[in-house]
Amino acid sequence: MTDQEAPRETDKNSSEKPLIVPKDLRYNCSGCGKCCGGWSIGMTEADWQKVKDVDWNSLHPDLEGLDLFVHREEAYKEGNSPYPHFTNPKPNGRCPFVVDDLCFIHSKLGAEAKPGTCQIFPYSFIETPTAIYAGVAYSSWAATMNQGDLLSDQIGMLEEHWQRTINHLKEKSKNIDLPSPGQKGESSNPFDIVTLTGDTTVPWKEYLYLDEKLQEHFRSAMNEKRYFLQTVLEGEEIVLEAVRLAKAGQSLEAITDYQPKVDLNTNAPESGINDSIIAMVYYLQLSFPAIRQHYPSLWFPATKSFDAKHFGTVVKRFNYLFRSGVSAILFKKPDLPGVGTHDLKKALHHKIAMFTPEMSQLFNRWIYMKIFAKTYFGPVAANYSVLCGYNSLVAKFLCAVLYTKSLAISRGKNAIELDDLHEAFVRLERAFFTVDQLLPQVGAALSFAYSIPKLCRPMVLSLHNSLEE
Ligand code: SF4
Repeated sequence: MTDQEAPRETDKNSSEKPLIVPKDLRYNCSGCGKCCGGWSIGMTEADWQKVKDVDWNSLHPDLEGLDLFVHREEAYKEGNSPYPHFTNPKPNGRCPFVVDDLCFIHSKLGAEAKPGTCQIFPYSFIETPTAIYAGVAYSSWAATMNQGDLLSDQIGMLEEHWQRTINHLKEKSKNIDLPSPGQKGESSNPFDIVTLTGDTTVPWKEYLYLDEKLQEHFRSAMNEKRYFLQTVLEGEEIVLEAVRLAKAGQSLEAITDYQPKVDLNTNAPESGINDSIIAMVYYLQLSFPAIRQHYPSLWFPATKSFDAKHFGTVVKRFNYLFRSGVSAILFKKPDLPGVGTHDLKKALHHKIAMFTPEMSQLFNRWIYMKIFAKTYFGPVAANYSVLCGYNSLVAKFLCAVLYTKSLAISRGKNAIELDDLHEAFVRLERAFFTVDQLLPQVGAALSFAYSIPKLCRPMVLSLHNSLEE
């Protein structure tokens, strides 16, 4: 590692807190246009004002006759919608403003006219009591593939994006009484007290010992391309040791010298409950978003306020989602449009070639990014505890591998493909973006399920046994 790659804390951002950027990670937009589909983009009133007077339909044949926006102003005022306006996806699920894989709003009016969400994407900025942590979501292909310049060499650009994020959040929450982001002071921060699990909490500065230990664990594993199934179970031991220390009333500083020990060659106990939880996560994170993308007519923001003529859509939606949910969760046979129905149990035990070092690097990189960016627990992750958040990451990793194994089985191949893994992570991250839009009951059910210590260990060991040396 060179000095230029070292982590840097900026001292010039308008907030009084430093902006901290992850080491060794790369990203630049590759302009592939693939990110501009699969969701309806929320727009603030300021976003809407910038584009509302343009006669978009007349400006390009691709936009002709399209219903470009959906308005939910009433629901927004009542607190039932995160935004007053949305873009309206085309029948193929893509944003209506994608023309030749580029954003037509950007081409016509400039980058500043795009919805704030698009300007910030795929960066995340999480404000904690001591600093702002920058991250990149793997819902972008270029981010998943680690393409571009080092983030630590792009501080100025990240500063600008953090400013945009502050402005966007202020605009978004105009009719809601929220503390202003980016200001240091007496006001409380949602990370002041961190829940490790259940009622075991620690102050933020104590949590930082665990955070630094996990970051270093996965960053070194990423750089050395260490076998991920070993590193992920070691990470779990680190989290559980932190819980043990906190429950014993000791400082988490002791975690710094802790050396986790994991034996991957122990027998993997079967667990129907764990299988069911993974099947539920698979349905929520992979099947359901794919169904939504494939059938935009069933999609929430694209559905205008209810009237009789939408009754058929509502029945169709309920029928399809119910059938696909039962098939995925009860019978472990999820359906993915374009992929078909596949058998998760068969995929788990199916013998397949060992992960390549590049695959382990991808897994370690993804989890390092999540831990660094603080997007795996707390306010942006359905208020999961740290243990819940960690288990949710392992569950999503398992879903990614089950998905790629299913694809390999369907092609008659004995190895999973790196490109399929990239696609799996893009799909998973898209659902991650909307985790705060889960029904509260679903969020609470997941939170309860993820609280089980060593939740995913039986499945990780089964997966290890299915990989051929
Ligand atoms: S508005 Fe532009 S940047 Fe945003 S999703 Fe649509 S095409 Fe992409």
